[in-house]
Amino acid sequence: MQNQSQISKSRWNILKLLKWTTSYFKSHNIDKPRTDAEILLSYALKLRRIDLYLRYDQPLSDEELSLFKSYIKRRIHREPVAYIVGTKGFWTLDFKVKNDVLIPRPETECLVEAALLLLPEDSNPIPKYILDLGTGSGAITLSLASQRPKNIFFASDRSIRAISIAHRNAKDYDLDGIINFFVGDWFNPIKADIHPFDMIISNPPYIPSGMIGRLQPEIYLYEPIEALDGGEDGLYHVRQIIQWAHAYLNKNGFLLLEIGHDQRDDVLEIINNCNKYDNIVFENDLSGFQRVVQMRKK
Ligand code: GLN
Repeated sequence: MQNQSQISKSRWNILKLLKWTTSYFKSHNIDKPRTDAEILLSYALKLRRIDLYLRYDQPLSDEELSLFKSYIKRRIHREPVAYIVGTKGFWTLDFKVKNDVLIPRPETECLVEAALLLLPEDSNPIPKYILDLGTGSGAITLSLASQRPKNIFFASDRSIRAISIAHRNAKDYDLDGIINFFVGDWFNPIKADIHPFDMIISNPPYIPSGMIGRLQPEIYLYEPIEALDGGEDGLYHVRQIIQWAHAYLNKNGFLLLEIGHDQRDDVLEIINNCNKYDNIVFENDLSGFQRVVQMRKK
């Protein structure tokens, strides 16, 4: 326990530091200054965020202060909070993230939601085979596996580092037994005679190359470009997946993709030209953009 004289000697307590950091972040145009200050301070102090509110007067030790300062510095250089603290909440789980993988986004939860609606509850005795292409942190696969654990999951990424992060995340939730991870580019590593999938799902890179530099610096300075870059028109990978997925799907199997907010019409044209799918449905994301597309193999 610190006594009163030690406390009054300390210049910085939690409340003062939160106020200072919030305005410092604001002056550097950080998007959510107070939230970021709270998350980083609670991480430095190994407290839950809510505990900060119960301990406003608590002073910081020199070590805590210098640790927190190092986080502030990284944030000012635009490093995303999720990479600094090493985790990001998605669906009902917490994912370990490093800058080898994209930080899972709330929009992608709409893709998970659409997939869950298509997957029967686990009373169904026949497991479904589900493939997640470009799994990154494993956000999509783990969310689905945690809710529909009687199915069999396959998840790939061309980055071996991403696969090792996804695998670790699966282990944290004891889901590694039902998810088969592998490294490779889209369908390349999958033999044609493998059990055809009932569902293929992906949040592929879909940002037009020329747009990446115009996104927030948090994204283009820190997130893996190969997880974002969809080629000149943004649709290079979307096109590849749509063109090939039917060869790996069961009849009536589903393909679900996340796409950019303004790509609906182009994606519909790709699907129609391919002529292998029906039951094409676009779903809105939380901001009302049609960002999820599902289609059924004819
Ligand atoms: N599947 C991961 C996610 O949705 C990674 C996607 C990607 O790297 N494009 O977050």
